[in-house]
Amino acid sequence: MRKIIRNTTKTGAITLTKDIRHDIGLAAGQAVDITVNDDRSITIRKHVASCFCCGGFDKVKVFKNYEICQTCRKELMEDETI
Ligand SMILES: [Zn+2]
Repeated sequence: MRKIIRNTTKTGAITLTKDIRHDIGLAAGQAVDITVNDDRSITIRKHVASCFCCGGFDKVKVFKNYEICQTCRKELMEDETI
């Protein structure tokens, strides 16, 4: 683990430098997840697609800005009440 001090811009943005992105395998422009923790700290992680229905990670695709896994897609398609 290493700690890096960065100033935020006037709009609150920070830059993840090339060496940081390289360390976590993040390409420029790739999405990150920002978590605000209970202790008022934040955690920034490389985004990993997960299903908005079940939280699963298996064969997740984006449909109308929602990430959904193959199992939930199949359940939705077979649900005749929808
Ligand atoms: Zn799912």
